[in-house]
Amino acid sequence: MCGIFGVYGRPDAATITHLGLYSLQHRGQESAGIVAVDGESVARGTRRMGLVSDGLTAREMEALPGHMAIGHTRYSTAGSSVLENAQPVLARFKGGHIALAHNGNLTNATEIRGTLENSGSIFASTMDSEVIVHRLARTHSGAPEHMLADALDGIEGAYCLTVLIGETLLAARDPRGFRPLVVGRLGDGWVVASETCALDIVGASLHCEVAPGEIIAIDSRGLRSIQLTAQRPLSRCVFEHVYFARPDSYVFSGSVDRARRALGRRLATESPAPGADLVFAVPDSSNAAALGYAEASGLPLELALIRNHYVGRTFIQPTQAGRDAKVKVKYNAVKEVLQGRSVVMVDDSIVRGTTTRGLVALVRSAGAREVHMRVSSPPITGPCYYGIDTPNREELIAATHSLDEIAAAIGVDSLGYLSLDGMLNAVPGGPHGFCHACFSGAYPTAAPLVDLHRAGKDM
Ligand code: 5GP
Ligand code: SF4
Ligand code: MG
Repeated sequence: MCGIFGVYGRPDAATITHLGLYSLQHRGQESAGIVAVDGESVARGTRRMGLVSDGLTAREMEALPGHMAIGHTRYSTAGSSVLENAQPVLARFKGGHIALAHNGNLTNATEIRGTLENSGSIFASTMDSEVIVHRLARTHSGAPEHMLADALDGIEGAYCLTVLIGETLLAARDPRGFRPLVVGRLGDGWVVASETCALDIVGASLHCEVAPGEIIAIDSRGLRSIQLTAQRPLSRCVFEHVYFARPDSYVFSGSVDRARRALGRRLATESPAPGADLVFAVPDSSNAAALGYAEASGLPLELALIRNHYVGRTFIQPTQAGRDAKVKVKYNAVKEVLQGRSVVMVDDSIVRGTTTRGLVALVRSAGAREVHMRVSSPPITGPCYYGIDTPNREELIAATHSLDEIAAAIGVDSLGYLSLDGMLNAVPGGPHGFCHACFSGAYPTAAPLVDLHRAGKDM
């Protein structure tokens, strides 16, 4: 997964992008990058491994002058943690520069890459996103938005893009609308971002959502829009509301905070915990869902787990012993809250079950009498082909275990998941027009031919 950003018509475009990327850090911690274009149409870029705060400095932004810029934060995927795969991609072709930042996963990139390689293209990275750049370089001249529409013709899967071609900033969203993308106004300038929290940090106001299948072009004449000819059923990723996006954002025109509270309320109705004394969240991703559960159940919300904020997601351990230690480094339990109590632990999702098992053990060792686990989404039974880094089917605990087996494996007294209908009816704008494939198996596209993402590479 990734976060993307773009600025047009501000003299300090790179600095604004740098700030915007801080608010998109949760969408990707592997690498960060910025490309800016100055008044002479010279494009300059910087890309670094690691967090925005580690890699990009304010001083570096001074070396990226220009009134337009794009930026990217990249989510960690196994085996692809190399600088060549950091974005934005910056290429020079006969018509000048192309810079591109991508959020999502293309599902037919292998086929398209094969065709391009057969006709002489040489790729610099293993990213699916690079095929769009090659396609762009081969399009015939025309307005940049038409070049991009040509390049995207026949490309399937999930993409939100910010692109710089010549003197134009482009923002595009695939026809199924898997990932969120918004346009904001900042004085006389424009800002594009994956989530509205990145508009807030730079002081921009929301102008519009980029519609599914829409390409928005921004240049000195202002903003204009075209629609891709391919029409597809709307498939917004429901997991953005469940886990991925920040609760202070609006995605798909709906409040993530309200979505999570509604998920939690619904969970309390569908899966109550009679006799429990209190409810608590696994911070931070399930805070709002636990609030909703407490509200609907009438149970008091307590702070039973404390999260260490100085441990990044990069703290990866190859062994089980290491993973158990990781849980303890990241969380500790509050004995005063848990001792002798029957408790409801709310989390947004269970993926492998590793973190959950560690947390349950922690909560028990702090003295909890009974642990009732409640999950504000349905069991995850399949991988995501559209940009969320869920593991292989075999590693997904709910793909291979029954409810009772999962409860036993994670060591809880009872386990309840939210139903698929319950989830889809709780999110704003539901129940229709959402992708829920990883929960339901109803994939909106064909599976990728070679799922190299799962083989440990992006492509
Ligand atoms: P598990 O018990 O399956 O090992 O971990 C469950 C936890 O992982 C939950 O707290 C959930 O918020 C978190 N989670 C869900 N999806 C993702 C993801 O795509 N990436 C990361 N890093 N964590 C996730
Ligand atoms: Fe989102 Fe799941 Fe669909 Fe992937 S498969 S886009 S995570 S709902
Ligand atoms: Mg979590």
